[in-house]
Amino acid sequence: MKEFKTESGVKVSQKTIDDLIHTYFTIGDTEIHLAQTFDGDGVSIDTNLREHCSECGTEDCEGNCEPNEDLRLAALNRIAYNGMVDGFESLLMSIAGQNVDVAKPEFANAIQNCLEAIGNNS
Ligand SMILES: [Zn+2]
Repeated sequence: MKEFKTESGVKVSQKTIDDLIHTYFTIGDTEIHLAQTFDGDGVSIDTNLREHCSECGTEDCEGNCEPNEDLRLAALNRIAYNGMVDGFESLLMSIAGQNVDVAKPEFANAIQNCLEAIGNNS
């Protein structure tokens, strides 16, 4: 078990259960869970980053559930944001798949900076 908090407030904890290394990053309300096999061949990610439609609660709703102009505009923004989240998650999985130890302050800072860049904290 490895646990630390960066100067900028990212909480990182890592533990090994059976054949998987689980790393958790907590930044405010945001949680990112990366699971890696020891050889890096298997990687999965789980986050609570995606936004959902305020009316129907689904991620990919295009605003037709309760048609109005505001909801459609919100849908465009949400779909664009969720697309950036997809790219972000893919990059994290790709890095973890290179058998990198992700439980480092530098890596946690990079995650935090990227989330700010894609507007998670706006
Ligand atoms: Zn909807």
